[in-house]
Amino acid sequence: MTHGNRPRPTFPAALKTAPAVALGANKNIAFNALQKSVKAVSESSTGVGLDSAAVRAAMVRKLAAQGVQHEGVLRAMGEIERHGFVDSALVNQAYEDTSLPIGLGQTISKPNVVARMLELLIHQRPLPLGRVLEVGTGCGYQAALLSRICTEVYTIERLKGLHEKARNLLRPYRIPNIHLLFGDGMLGFPSGAPYAGIIAAAGGDAVPQAWLDQLAVGGRIVAPASLGKTSQSLVIVDRTPQGFQQTVLEAVQFVPLKSGIG
Ligand code: SAH
Repeated sequence: MTHGNRPRPTFPAALKTAPAVALGANKNIAFNALQKSVKAVSESSTGVGLDSAAVRAAMVRKLAAQGVQHEGVLRAMGEIERHGFVDSALVNQAYEDTSLPIGLGQTISKPNVVARMLELLIHQRPLPLGRVLEVGTGCGYQAALLSRICTEVYTIERLKGLHEKARNLLRPYRIPNIHLLFGDGMLGFPSGAPYAGIIAAAGGDAVPQAWLDQLAVGGRIVAPASLGKTSQSLVIVDRTPQGFQQTVLEAVQFVPLKSGIG
């Protein structure tokens, strides 16, 4: 899938690292700050007749109304152009609360699921987080969001076609702190370890041992897993000085985590 000759909106070449922000106890304050930053970031249009910053701001208002509170997450969702990561035929749906196909049978999650997982990943820690491993680069959208909330993003994809696609889609944004890796993310990426966070967009039977091994003390894994059942749940693993603590949250539906490369 390509974007053909569709003109690309401009984007700041050097992305600011997200500042440390307090949890928005008052959503209105958080939202005013967000609107300012959305305005500052982009006055561009998508070339399909919609002002993308305004549409993103509307998406963010909806996310906040649905309960997403973290100012850093809302800001990133307001800044990163989801329409830049989907096929041109799907651009009109890019800011709807829906998952979308990204090729090779894979999907990007709904914005509200992405935002929820980022909030869980951050938990109560100040931004930016340190190094984060993302398993399942897909089209690169979530990697772009992660680049705003952590110092370094290591993102690994097992399908060569998607790894290359993400490289092409991310190129215009010139984001310096994303490291695109091709390989089996079930093995983690030991060279970048230990990680402050590991986030997966594909679910297996269990949380792979390699991820536990590569998680820093004080770090957190957010991943779908079926844990021996037929349905998946969102699973959190915290590594504390005393050991690992697992929490099972709501039911979710993610593509399968597969071993090997393709
Ligand atoms: N975060 C992505 C979502 C991609 S969907 C985005 O923003 O687009 C999940 C991805 O996980 C798929 O691309 C799938 O190929 C990938 N995946 C599944 N098992 C994997 C594994 N073992 N290692 C790396 N990637 C894997």
